[in-house]
Amino acid sequence: MSIADNIVEIRKRIEAAALDAGRDDGADVELVAVSKTQPQEKLMEALAAGQRVFGENRVQEAQEHWSAYASGEASPFAKASEGKSQLQRDYPGLRLHLIGPLQTNKAKEAVALFDVIETLDREKLARKLADEMAKQGRDLPCYIQVNTGDEPQKAGISPAELPRFYDFCYSECGLDIVGLMCIPPVDEPPALHFALLAKLAGELGLSKLSMGMSADYERAVALGATSVRVGTGVFGERTL
Ligand SMILES: *Cc1c(COP(=O)(O)O)cnc(C)c1O
Repeated sequence: MSIADNIVEIRKRIEAAALDAGRDDGADVELVAVSKTQPQEKLMEALAAGQRVFGENRVQEAQEHWSAYASGEASPFAKASEGKSQLQRDYPGLRLHLIGPLQTNKAKEAVALFDVIETLDREKLARKLADEMAKQGRDLPCYIQVNTGDEPQKAGISPAELPRFYDFCYSECGLDIVGLMCIPPVDEPPALHFALLAKLAGELGLSKLSMGMSADYERAVALGATSVRVGTGVFGERTL
């Protein structure tokens, strides 16, 4: 199947999962096409198929992936006032999400390149992002990444610390926190984690939930995902 076919199929399944769960038709669920490690021509194929929202998990790779289309501006995603890049002119509505861990020393580049940060997970990073956004005049929507399984090796704030961390990001740093994001443990049913994330977001009055990947996005939609991050399902197996 082509990438265009894959996208049509995924949208159909999102719609079916949403209808089954008594949500609307799923049109409000955003499909983030995870383009990490994929070759340039597949990105172009997805763009040609109408896909406009992409997820990348490393700043440097994202720059390599997406800067090729910039026309000299510092960022291909520069705001209109800074002059639009060729890529933005050719594909209006193009948006790039950071979905991988962010080191504070890459915050500057991340703020310049991305439109949404999904992996806010510690105070030092929150401060640094707030500083960079102020400097660059960009106010990016952010998701807090929650370590729903309290896994020691995994990024994300633990559910117990979430309310305090949210307050810090929102009140102290002035960040635009729009929702929560999670990556469930590989060896547990993801539904438990999706339900927990939805509950935590509800308690904070946050409306956006980034959850679900190729293997489990339908389940995530059933449990309230507003955004699913699908890589192999869109592009096929990763080559690296
Ligand atoms: C790679 C990645 C995905 C996509 O995974 P697939 O299984 O290929 O759909 C989603 N979210 C994050 C955070 C990722 O790193």
